[in-house]
Amino acid sequence: MSLLTGKLGIVFGVANKRSIAWAIAQAWAKEGARLAFTYQGERLKENVEELAATFGSDTLILPCDVTRDEEIAAVFKTVGEKFGKLHLLLHSVAFAPREALEGEFINTSRDAFRIAHDVSAYSLVALARAAAPLMTEGGSILAMTYYGSEKVVPHYNVMGVAKAALEASARYLAYDLGPKKIRVNCISAGPVNTLAARGIAGFTDMLKHYEAHAPLRRNVLPDELGATGVFLASDGAAAITGQVIYVDSGYQIMGM
Ligand code: NAP
Repeated sequence: MSLLTGKLGIVFGVANKRSIAWAIAQAWAKEGARLAFTYQGERLKENVEELAATFGSDTLILPCDVTRDEEIAAVFKTVGEKFGKLHLLLHSVAFAPREALEGEFINTSRDAFRIAHDVSAYSLVALARAAAPLMTEGGSILAMTYYGSEKVVPHYNVMGVAKAALEASARYLAYDLGPKKIRVNCISAGPVNTLAARGIAGFTDMLKHYEAHAPLRRNVLPDELGATGVFLASDGAAAITGQVIYVDSGYQIMGM
């Protein structure tokens, strides 16, 4: 039997085939999970439909802008009707206005700060609250984060502050949901060349820097994020909650 046979999951954050969410979704599906997908806005609908169709034409695909409570409610209502219950949730969503990811953090506007935190951190709280009533057999909630939450990574700016809020939110959610056997963890990924990553000024230099300085002297591969996603979703991680797991070729241990 595969590691996730019989598990029902929902994935937020597939934009295209390079998305980290897609790597984790593929790994979850390969281990037997049945998945639903969401997309933000019509622009991405076709992409997500095309990708999700590889799991069968009846795959559930729903619109969801995570800043809209009514869309979140509609998603979980439909998931409840179609699946009856839920075991897995992947939060792989982040956004900050482009100008906030260039130049100095000190110039972050009130609006950019609010938007970055709403989309990238508060959304985890909103999604967990909506998913929990369906996780009647326990569950695993996973969120994607980055090292810029704890150390200064030039240009990551307000997104680093939002990721710190995301990680702290995961800990508080882990405490609230623990009695229901729902675990909440973050994967802190090293840089991966995706649509969102290309919005960060100097991203190509980040990839080169990791290759030169990480203990494993290379960048992380999407499949490796998928494998960690499977582990954290599986019973092998049954006693792991509230954690940030680094999948970054070891970069996080370096002081210099
Ligand atoms: P990606 O493919 O661009 O995925 C980001 C996703 O967030 C997109 O599907 C995007 O949709 C979605 N999103 C943005 N605003 C949204 C909203 N209001 N409602 C719903 N969805 C929204 O990039 P990615 O690199 O895979 O990012 C996934 C996660 O991994 C993010 O949390 C990111 O911070 C994290 N991460 C990435 C790296 C990296 O180097 N790539 C490293 C560590 C952590 P739109 O395209 O429509 O905006």
